[in-house]
Amino acid sequence: ASVFAGIAQAPEDPILGVTVAFNKDPNPNKVNLGVGAYRTEEGKPLVLNVVRRAEQMLINDPTRYKEYLPITGLAEFNKLSAKLIFGADSPAILENRVATVQCLSGTGSLRVGGEFLARHYHEHTVYIPQPTWGNHPKVFTLAGLKDVRYYRYYDPATRGLDFKGLLEDLGSAPNGAIVLIHACAHNPTGVDPTLDQWEQIRQLMRSKSLLPFFDSAYQGFASGSLDKDAQSVRMFVADGGELLMAQSYAKNMGMYGERVGALSIVCRSADVASRVESQLKLVIRPMYSSPPLHGPSVVATILKDSEMFKEWTVELKAMADRIISMRQQLFDALKARGTPGDWSHIIKQIGMFTFTGLTSEQVAFMRQEYHIYMTSDGRISMAGLNAKNVPILADAIHAAVT
Ligand code: PLP
Repeated sequence: ASVFAGIAQAPEDPILGVTVAFNKDPNPNKVNLGVGAYRTEEGKPLVLNVVRRAEQMLINDPTRYKEYLPITGLAEFNKLSAKLIFGADSPAILENRVATVQCLSGTGSLRVGGEFLARHYHEHTVYIPQPTWGNHPKVFTLAGLKDVRYYRYYDPATRGLDFKGLLEDLGSAPNGAIVLIHACAHNPTGVDPTLDQWEQIRQLMRSKSLLPFFDSAYQGFASGSLDKDAQSVRMFVADGGELLMAQSYAKNMGMYGERVGALSIVCRSADVASRVESQLKLVIRPMYSSPPLHGPSVVATILKDSEMFKEWTVELKAMADRIISMRQQLFDALKARGTPGDWSHIIKQIGMFTFTGLTSEQVAFMRQEYHIYMTSDGRISMAGLNAKNVPILADAIHAAVT
């Protein structure tokens, strides 16, 4: 008998499991709105033109080797990534107070940041929004931050921000606690604080020395503007305080499977930042030694060339705009059907997802009867919609709620 005979079958991941179920469904009209990956109007995955161009340049360069990167990754990529999120004129960058390490996309950046905090930060309580991306609690717990708590974020009654609850919960958090913040395009709700609310959150957090850990998985994807989507983060950097930042290029550059991301820790001084970086190396080395070479080389090629950077922003905005237009089309389709309820949150929410408010029973009904797949919390990936499947989804929602 196998030495593993006693092992139990683990459940599927709640998000990736949706795709597993979708792939098994033989129905030709099935629609996958589960995973947050961009699809074209034709329903196809997209590799940006500028990415193809950068890859071609790299392939044609005979001076490029496949040597190991340093533990901290590609230095040029790290610098450019910090500039992208904090702004080229960020005082923290000019004063050399940012330690940046290349990591395995957003998830890897969160995990390395979590392990660093578990080893070197005095407070192991981490607050995450209720609800949040399902992987957050597991990433932090397994990183060694065992006390994961929720702060109120979403109000189902208004389908908007529970700002009062958020302030109350952070207000009663222990001093110094870590607070996970979605930089923009909150997943799964699509609800972000206004700039005015961000400012109040910042003041409260700084007054209690709560340590911000930003998760930026959608810079540029929310509004179509890279700078606008970084405003929340830059507010916190501008006050001179410290913070962590996990960056992903999965969505905004379509680099999903290449696993390109960066962890930056903004410190009070260059001296602290350099010691922080030395300790980040000790976290990374026994975990995976050093990060991959291809993805960050592509990203750096694009970020450092002003003309390619421009081309990226145009392609990025086109993705954001298509998603925004899908919101309008879905809203209009429900209105045309006279579907009961207020569906204005579909056009008010931002980013890749709509948090529909559909119950898990309604979600199950839509999968059963219409072969439409989404996570059981009623979250749909707007990037998976197109003119062809919007009417199918609208029919399904209409049938589910009537
Ligand atoms: N954080 C949030 C909020 C996300 O939605 C995602 C992806 O869905 C990630 C982090 C991590 O993504 P990746 O590891 O692919 O960069």
